[in-house]
Amino acid sequence: MGDISLTQVLETLGKAFPHTVLRPGSPRYEEENGKFWNRDNADVRPAGIVAPESAAETGAILKVLSDTKTHFAIRSGGYMPVPKYNTSPAVLISLSRLSSIELLPPTSPSPPLVKFGAGNTWGPIYDVLSPHGLVVPGGRSRDVGVGGFLLHGGVSHFYASLGWACESVVEFDVALASGDVVAANASLNADLFWALKGGSANFGVVTAFTMRTAKLEKMWGGVRVAVGTGETASRVFTALHAGIQGDVDEKAHVEVISFYNPTACAGGDALFVLSLAYAGEVEKEGPAALKGFMEVEAVNDGTRVTTQRELAADDKVNVGYDKRGLFRAFSYRGGPQVTLDIYTEYYALVKASGVFDADPSAMAALLWLPVGQKLASGTGVMTLGEDAEPYLSCNICIRWSSPSVSERIHAIADGIADTLKKKLQDAGVFVPFTYGNIAGVQDMTFAGLPETTRRRLREVAGRYDPEGVFQKQVPGFKLV
Ligand SMILES: Cc1cc2nc3c(=O)[nH]c(=O)nc-3n(C[C@H](O)[C@H](O)[C@H](O)COP(=O)(O)OP(=O)(O)OC[C@H]3O[C@@H](n4cnc5c(N)ncnc54)[C@H](O)[C@@H]3O)c2cc1C
Repeated sequence: MGDISLTQVLETLGKAFPHTVLRPGSPRYEEENGKFWNRDNADVRPAGIVAPESAAETGAILKVLSDTKTHFAIRSGGYMPVPKYNTSPAVLISLSRLSSIELLPPTSPSPPLVKFGAGNTWGPIYDVLSPHGLVVPGGRSRDVGVGGFLLHGGVSHFYASLGWACESVVEFDVALASGDVVAANASLNADLFWALKGGSANFGVVTAFTMRTAKLEKMWGGVRVAVGTGETASRVFTALHAGIQGDVDEKAHVEVISFYNPTACAGGDALFVLSLAYAGEVEKEGPAALKGFMEVEAVNDGTRVTTQRELAADDKVNVGYDKRGLFRAFSYRGGPQVTLDIYTEYYALVKASGVFDADPSAMAALLWLPVGQKLASGTGVMTLGEDAEPYLSCNICIRWSSPSVSERIHAIADGIADTLKKKLQDAGVFVPFTYGNIAGVQDMTFAGLPETTRRRLREVAGRYDPEGVFQKQVPGFKLV
């Protein structure tokens, strides 16, 4: 903060934009401050929440915050669990009122573009597209925000054919620290356009996204739940690894989720939730590309011919604002045996860790995202360059209820993540890059990218934010 106090800054903003500034105690402040997937973030309680109604207003607010050197955070859907990366004790810019969704008139035989405000979650966008038989590569849960998801890459049900979801963005509307609002697309501010496709909250506040849609009336998918015994785990991991090697069917999608809670799992093995999808209609037995997962004995099978909109509504367990949560993540190459070892060790460590003594309702999960050729390579920020071979991205997710155990559970998760990373490093299969949307603060997001990419990102940040407002005053994964 410069010579002017935070109270004065909020008074200045309140006078200029009376309808946008929310102060603690008001019902609208409490409602806005409740919109965090990790309730620990809601406990930060900013001195003021600013909720602009337009891109121009966002720019004008940014100018005040920049000029007064005020610290502020930006929030779209609030689904990033990292403590304080999407909130601040000073000012929170909530984008929730930037919620327009517009299907643009087609200008070519291609499917129309969709333009939406940065305060949306994916569900309302699917509600608009689905009646037209259209899809976009968006979040696999309705409730995930568009902002964080797209600016850090985004993994959709169509990752194997379309790559990172941000690759389907054709234009960003961006409010800069100077207060200007600019468009970034392939011909206008093309360097910023490139950087925003993976570079996150380092350049400006994106107020709207315009994306390509695709025609897909019906698809296939759902979750199969299986008990994660050693034999089932071996079959699941063999199928998972097969799916990123050789001739991959680009219509197929898989995410392997495992989770454990002593009561839900009756003290036995973890449960697998196999999230499967296929961009086309297929027979009841499922697509050939996902046969390995369909052959696993399931205690529940929700796969069916469906739509993107219905599929994204399947996740009712992991969504909502009522719990605490954390992510840690790491990447590696290696075969099915490495994955089986990681799985076995993770649950042995979790069960011995005291997590469930601290909070019996806690749920510990380990998820695998297969980063095949389309995600690992390409021309965007997230490509690993010469090192662009498929790899597995693995996410530790723990959820719990009581704030009194948050610190302890973070320490436990950090210990487990360190142990597993060391094991992978010792085996020579560790990949330094971590996908930021599933990462914790200590994980290697930008630090794991090739130096040429990092240098280019810093150059673009310097051009559009010469005072370094987004490096110094805004939390998040930074470029330095
Ligand atoms: C239940 C659940 C399901 C998930 N499913 C998926 C999935 O299917 N695929 C996937 O890839 N990931 C998934 N994720 C991870 C998700 O992509 C990230 O948590 C992502 O950051 C969420 O975006 P958000 O807008 O809700 O986040 P926020 O917490 O609002 O923002 C995340 C970060 O982005 C910045 N930011 C947000 N909007 C803007 C903006 N407009 N301009 C500048 N900076 C901005 C914020 O400052 C913050 O640093 C899931 C997470 C959860 C908890």
